[in-house]
Amino acid sequence: MKLEDHIRTVPHFPKQGIMFKDITTLLKHPEAFRFAIKEFRDRYKDSGITKVVGAESRGFIFGAVLAHELHCGFVPARKPGKLPAKTISQEYELEYGKDSLHIHVDAIEKGDKVLVVDDLIATGGTVKAVVEMVKKLGGEIIECAFLIELTFLKGRGKLGSLPVFSLITYDSEE
Ligand code: AMP
Repeated sequence: MKLEDHIRTVPHFPKQGIMFKDITTLLKHPEAFRFAIKEFRDRYKDSGITKVVGAESRGFIFGAVLAHELHCGFVPARKPGKLPAKTISQEYELEYGKDSLHIHVDAIEKGDKVLVVDDLIATGGTVKAVVEMVKKLGGEIIECAFLIELTFLKGRGKLGSLPVFSLITYDSEE
């Protein structure tokens, strides 16, 4: 199974100059979607992971299915104003300006072994914000996992020595 064959690149979305990696073409293909989840499951099934944290919103799709497969909990990292109980938050840089993600303070317990999941790592700002919150709550990050990594943007450099795993890599804008 060549997963990259199921990713659609849409030029200039959502704005001029961005080569958007559209995962909906993979999601609608049953074998490709199952294959991606199986690859993640096989990698993490013996890692003792207790929580998968997924970043809003495409990280929810892979993160929640994987948490189900790994028999562990799923924690959504959400945009401001979405989570109803007490949260911690972390700002991160966007191309223009800032945004933030939140998680419930009781979503991670000390000693949780955490896998952070998103569909794609570009500059690494989003995943770094999630990692900071998990650490503040006492969770131990086992790895950060992505369907797609844009390696030319060097996002994994923002994560220091934390392990990063991706199923598909692009080494240039295509
Ligand atoms: P970053 O914080 O720069 O690593 O960006 C990662 C987040 O932005 C992920 O949640 C992605 O879904 C989204 N993203 C960034 N660049 C792209 C792209 N070229 N195609 C699709 N999604 C992207």
